[in-house]
Amino acid sequence: MTTLASYASHPGQSRGRLHVEPGGEMRGPRDMFQRDRDRIIHSISFRRLRHKTQVFVSPDGDHFRVRLTHSLEVAQIGRTTARTLGLNEDLTEALCLAHDIGHPPFGHAGEDALEAALDDQGGFDHNAHTLRTLMLLESPYPLFRGLNLSWEMLEGLAKHNGPVDRPGWAMREVDALFALDLPSHASLEAQLAAISDDIAYDNHDIDDGLRAGLLTLDQLLSVSLVKSCWDRVRARYPDLPDDRLLRELVREQIGVMANDLIAATRANIAASGVETVEDVRHFGRTLVGFSPELAVQERELKRFMYATLYHHPEQLAAAARARVIVTGLFRAYHDRPDLMPPEWRDDCALEEPQRSRHIADFIAGMTDRYAEKRHAEIFGEAAFA
Ligand code: MG
Repeated sequence: MTTLASYASHPGQSRGRLHVEPGGEMRGPRDMFQRDRDRIIHSISFRRLRHKTQVFVSPDGDHFRVRLTHSLEVAQIGRTTARTLGLNEDLTEALCLAHDIGHPPFGHAGEDALEAALDDQGGFDHNAHTLRTLMLLESPYPLFRGLNLSWEMLEGLAKHNGPVDRPGWAMREVDALFALDLPSHASLEAQLAAISDDIAYDNHDIDDGLRAGLLTLDQLLSVSLVKSCWDRVRARYPDLPDDRLLRELVREQIGVMANDLIAATRANIAASGVETVEDVRHFGRTLVGFSPELAVQERELKRFMYATLYHHPEQLAAAARARVIVTGLFRAYHDRPDLMPPEWRDDCALEEPQRSRHIADFIAGMTDRYAEKRHAEIFGEAAFA
C-alpha cells in the first residue's frame, strides 16, 4: 500500500455518513471508502448498467461496450493514476464505478427525452439522478433510505465536473438532506474520476467505432493525436498489416493520455501549494488535467468523434427511436399509472411535480431492453411505422 499524499482524501478524516449505522463504522477490515466501493458493486443500479447504452443502443455484438464495461474501464484508469499520484485509490475507484449510475436507458437520447418530458417539472439531469438513485431510490438497508455513502463519495459524484453553481431540483433535494458544499471544487479523486471517464471513452469509442464500421482508420488519421500515436505504432511494427495494429493504436493513445495526465497533474499540484483536501476544495480551479498541449489535441479528437461517430446517420436513427420509446412510456404512465408495476403504481402521486418526477424515476432506472419491452407491450411495433 502506497502512502497517501497529504492532499489526498483520507478515510479516517471522512465527514461520515448521513445515517449513523448500527455496528459502528468498521465492518470487517474495510475502511470508509472501501465500503463505499463495495456498496456500489453490490447495488442493483450498478448491475443494471450491463444493459444500458454507452454509445451503441442495445448492441447486437457482444464485443461492444455498455455502461457497465465502460465504468470498469474508467475505474481501471482511475485506480492506476490515483495510486501513482498518491491519491486515494478506493475512493477514486468507487467514484468511477458509480459515475454513470444515473443515466437513463439509451444514453444521451434517453436523457434528452426525459429532460423534455420533465420540462415543466424542473427537468432531468443524469448526474443529479445518480445522487437521487444512491441516496433515495435504491434502499437496501432496513432502517434508512439509500446506500448511505460517505460524504466524500457523494460530494465527488455531485461535483466531479466542477462546482455546482446552479443546482437543479434533484440536486437541491439531496443537498438539503446532506449538505454537499456544492459551490466548492471536489477532491482530487473526484477530479481524477472525471478525466478517467474522458480517457476511457475517447479511446474505447474509437475501438467500438472501428468494430462497427462507422469509422475508418483513414478518417481517424486526420486527428493529430491519433496520427502521432499511429506513426509510433507503425514504426514499431513495420511489417504487420494495419488491422493487426488497431488495438495497439488505442493502447498507445491511452498510455499517452494517462502519462500526460499524471505529469501535468503533478506539476499543477506542486505549483498550487495545496497541502490538504480542504485546500484543494477552495483552490478555485481544477488541478487534475492534461497539459495545455494535450488538452487541445483531445478537444480536436472529441470534435472528430462527434462529427463522425456520435452524429453518424445510424446513431441518429437509433437516437430518434430511443426518444420515441422514452417519450411514449412517459406519456403512457402519466395517463395510466396502473401500467407501472405495483411498487411504482402505488406511490404515484396525483399532483405535480411529484407525479412526473416519480414516473421519470421509474423510466430512468430502466435498461434499454426493459424499456423496449414495456414500450412494445403498450404500443406494439406499429409505433415506429
Ligand atoms: Mg461515463
